Amino acid sequence: MNFKRCLRCGCFFSSVDEICPNCAPKDDFEMSKLKTFLVNQPKEASIPDIIKGTGIEEANLNRFMNNKNFIKEVKKEKNNINFNL
Ligand SMILES: [Zn+2]
Repeated sequence: MNFKRCLRCGCFFSSVDEICPNCAPKDDFEMSKLKTFLVNQPKEASIPDIIKGTGIEEANLNRFMNNKNFIKEVKKEKNNINFNL
């Protein structure tokens, strides 16, 4: 069994994930919020702009922005929108 320390709340839990089951829904919620924000952003937003626009804490925001799969999804959605205009 693998013990991990949750990146959000710091509790120890046993999983292959980086986030404990208590925090996973918060992560999902913030990621979808961030995705919507980024997709609707006409230009590249700066980190302070994103924090102001979404209310997401900087540590969590940095974690999401370093998540390659997440960024890939945002870019894909953004391209789809531009393509449909
Ligand atoms: Zn947690």
